[in-house]
Amino acid sequence: MLGPVILAASRSDRMRRLVSAAPVTKSVVDRFIPGETVDEVVPVIEDLTGKGLDVTMDVVGEDITTREQAEAARDAYLELVDRLGDLGLGARTEMSVKLSMFGQALPGGRELALANVRPVVEAAAAIGTTVTLDAEDHTTLDSMFAIHDELRKDFPQTGCVIQAYLYRTEEDARRLAAAGSRVRLVKGAYKEPAAVAYQRKHEIDKAYVRVLKILMEGVGYPMIGSHDPRLISIAQELAHRAARKPDEYEFQMLYGIRSDEHLRLAAEGHRMRVYTAYGTDWYGYFMRRLAEKPANLRFFARSMITK
Ligand code: FAD
Repeated sequence: MLGPVILAASRSDRMRRLVSAAPVTKSVVDRFIPGETVDEVVPVIEDLTGKGLDVTMDVVGEDITTREQAEAARDAYLELVDRLGDLGLGARTEMSVKLSMFGQALPGGRELALANVRPVVEAAAAIGTTVTLDAEDHTTLDSMFAIHDELRKDFPQTGCVIQAYLYRTEEDARRLAAAGSRVRLVKGAYKEPAAVAYQRKHEIDKAYVRVLKILMEGVGYPMIGSHDPRLISIAQELAHRAARKPDEYEFQMLYGIRSDEHLRLAAEGHRMRVYTAYGTDWYGYFMRRLAEKPANLRFFARSMITK
């Protein structure tokens, strides 16, 4: 019951100001967002990759309101690419982007977001890595897929995300699987109405399995974005049935969540990528992590009381 309330709060400016200013919030946020600057996060990347994990890096931020902010987002990612280039790990260190941060919701948003994200995708390709377009709320997806199609003409490795909770996703998965895309499948983290999305956990889980089958049987590269132990073993079984080799799919999890499982899957020979977010505008990302597991909220509240 708490999840939807927290998701609604994630869109509230008043809550954003309150939570961001709370004196103890930062220490709780660190569990999910291990740095505010690229300098702070490079040692984290070195630590994760040193343990045999791959990463996808996200500069947090979304829902910007000016073209200058969209350009600043582009520049923050270009700075990140430079640093990833210095590490020399190629596709082991990729990036995830939210197109809303690149101007997607501003006037002329599709062209603007494409113009801002393209140099990042180009720079990524130049250091042997790639970019995945995150999925945001359902109103943004047609534009995200159009930008994905456009980028893939020059950079076919560009990935995208699909969300099992949306009714439209099976159809999207069929198209993407046939096109040979890199696709991350997640359950979905936004507050969506019943008109477009399953609301119950068991319905979402069933949809996840149906979509995963489509991806595994297709000719693309499935990226299983989940911490759910049941779905992870189903994914292993489906990969086996589809005769996929370990380098023909990968698991992905979020930094700070089930970290032992990251290492266990990597030790079993699976490719495991850790989605690692950093930056100062962490509010929306942080609130979605609280909404996914309301026990996190109790941890957060307790830390405020005991300080
Ligand atoms: P759940 O059933 O929610 O969780 C399974 C178990 O994992 C829980 O029982 C718990 O033990 C643990 N767990 C899950 N979440 C948390 C948490 N926050 N804190 C502590 N423990 C937790 N969503 C989007 O809408 N768009 C995206 O682009 C997107 N990208 C993602 C990228 C990656 C790599 C991952 C892993 C998730 C992404 N998500 C994205 C979020 C996703 O939609 C889910 O909200 C999130 O993954 C939780 O679902 P789950 O599959 O882990 O299953």
